[in-house]
Amino acid sequence: MRPARGFLEESNEHGPPMRKPLIAGNWKMHKTLGEAIDYVMAFREAVEDVIAVDVLLCVPAPLCSPLAKLLKESNIQLGAQNLYWEEKGAFTGEVSGPMLESVGCNYVIVGHSERRHVFGETDEDVNRKLRAALAAYLTPIFCIGETLAEREADETNDVLTRQVAEGLKGFSADEIAKMVVAYEPVWAIGTGQTATPNQANETQRVVRELVKAQAGEEVAGALRILYGGSVKPDNIVELMREPEIDGALVGGASLGVDAFVRIVTYYETTEAETQR
Ligand code: PEP
Repeated sequence: MRPARGFLEESNEHGPPMRKPLIAGNWKMHKTLGEAIDYVMAFREAVEDVIAVDVLLCVPAPLCSPLAKLLKESNIQLGAQNLYWEEKGAFTGEVSGPMLESVGCNYVIVGHSERRHVFGETDEDVNRKLRAALAAYLTPIFCIGETLAEREADETNDVLTRQVAEGLKGFSADEIAKMVVAYEPVWAIGTGQTATPNQANETQRVVRELVKAQAGEEVAGALRILYGGSVKPDNIVELMREPEIDGALVGGASLGVDAFVRIVTYYETTEAETQR
């Protein structure tokens, strides 16, 4: 059986270049400051030796500044969950890229399905936000994915083609090289339903082809494409065996320290444990 991906694996079966896995937690709208501090103190210690994967916490905007201080000098990176495309101005309630960067964020999630479906974000909005993220030296995690109705209507590839084309409209290959993509089928987010590893892998292969058409083979080959949708300690290993899955964007299961530590350290899971 193929081993789960880990940066320290001896050979890269998937061909150059090596893509270091990224495991990102998305806390969504959860945790007060006190809860967040307790979590980060415990999590930081539990993952301090992790070098095989990049570790990221995407937290609510008010928590970015205090958590940045706790995460300084740690191996955990900090991200926000959204940004506005303008730098500043009369946009009550919004947060800009430079603001996030100034408090210590390195990443920002852009176009999460909850932003698209609950808050009505369009592909054009997503495109502007991706540009704003790069302008602020933030790595955007560009989220795409189809709804259940779209999958059942056999429209998955059309939807992803549109989201990639519109989201990445006007970006050069060099700019796309600074992004991370997350494929998150909407029907798998927070539902307990996961795409099968094979389903996710095949879809992510299509996404990489779409990026390749715009940005070329080298950039597409180096691009990290994460899978998101009900990732848990007991399915991460099989997902990470897939060559096109370069990490995970984890919602619910990133809220508890123990579960998220098990996900981050998936590569230590023994064969016997995966078969339990
Ligand atoms: C997410 O929030 O991006 C997500 C994938 O959520 P969950 O893991 O809870 O499905």
